[in-house]
Amino acid sequence: MANTQLKNELIAYSKHIGIDKIGFASADPFVTLKSRLEEQQNLEFQSGFEKGTLEERTKPELLLPEAKTIISIALAYPSKLKNPPQSKKGDRRGIFCRASWGEDYHHILRRKLNMLEEFLVNKVPSATSKSMVDTGELSDRAVAERAGIGWSGKNCAIITPEFGSYVYLGEMITTLDLPEDRPIFDQCGSCNKCVDACPTDALVQGGQLDSNKCIAFLTQTKELLPEKYRKKIGNRLYGCDTCQVVCPENKGKNADHHSEMIPDPEVVKPKLLPLLKLSNREFKEKFGGISGSWRGKKPIQRNAIIGLAHYKEIESLPDLYKLMHEDPRPVIRGTAAWAVAEISKNDDVYQQLLKAEQTESVAEVSVEIKNSLQKLGNGFKPLEKEMKNL
Ligand code: SF4
Ligand code: SF4
Repeated sequence: MANTQLKNELIAYSKHIGIDKIGFASADPFVTLKSRLEEQQNLEFQSGFEKGTLEERTKPELLLPEAKTIISIALAYPSKLKNPPQSKKGDRRGIFCRASWGEDYHHILRRKLNMLEEFLVNKVPSATSKSMVDTGELSDRAVAERAGIGWSGKNCAIITPEFGSYVYLGEMITTLDLPEDRPIFDQCGSCNKCVDACPTDALVQGGQLDSNKCIAFLTQTKELLPEKYRKKIGNRLYGCDTCQVVCPENKGKNADHHSEMIPDPEVVKPKLLPLLKLSNREFKEKFGGISGSWRGKKPIQRNAIIGLAHYKEIESLPDLYKLMHEDPRPVIRGTAAWAVAEISKNDDVYQQLLKAEQTESVAEVSVEIKNSLQKLGNGFKPLEKEMKNL
């Protein structure tokens, strides 16, 4: 009874500090999740960003001795840009996914969880707790599902009836025994829109994701991207929203009541060409505050080059040549070598690639240059004709 009262006080306080949803789950081991994670591991579907062992990720007690309850919180974020700048020919723009708009959500959630923790300690000084956001061992989604925040959609996101899947999730494990909430039943039904819309078939079946194919993960890698995915990435600089945008549960959902989450359109939909020329300091100044910058400048610049190729942005060729010849990072040289041949098949591109071939010393970049030369050779009619006439 006393704990029901404490739970109600926590709920009231959470509303007071701007938490949109709160739910309470038992800290029992996540048995189903464990077998799902094992399957993911066996199928090699994991992203490599996961933290902790399988045991730690599924047994809250290993993270906090005598854990009894996990409190799950959700904060709703905006899905629409006000006055979005246009992406025009000669001045193309890329896009960061919605979850990375506004202030880095790790900071926002951490502040809220700290406040909740303080509140709890004031009420029950003997209670201990441990909070985590996204980068912790526990699965935010499995906790949120158990705590009744929303159901786990076929797109692998937690879908809340109030805000759709546009919610940030965080949780706090506590030694306090608080009454549990009931999970919400799965409402996807026969809908399969997210699975059908995924550009890379990463949603293997409803609710199972092959991270190696998922654009959201691919945009965060630091290596050369497999060629088959480059054209699928389009103008995405970080993350992918497709399986959320097509979801009927997200229709009309645009929570804009948290001022710190309101995005700056020039940051989250930036011009591609200037992005290629930013120093580390300039990059940090402009993008350092959003979560989409956590992997640094290189993956964003690699993706910007892919975006320019996607738009066949002829005006970018001089800058891409410069990167291909002079950039110290092989990933950038290699991606530029691929991009120039995607953008144009003229003789200038061919000559620039030949020049780069002579000076390139890194094998994987040389492969990119050779592939582009081959591509041009095949489709480059004037040169072929000239050669036949000799
Ligand atoms: Fe597919 Fe994009 Fe969703 Fe990943 S984030 S599953 S690539 S639609
Ligand atoms: Fe579920 Fe349909 Fe939304 Fe996919 S698109 S998560 S199947 S409701």
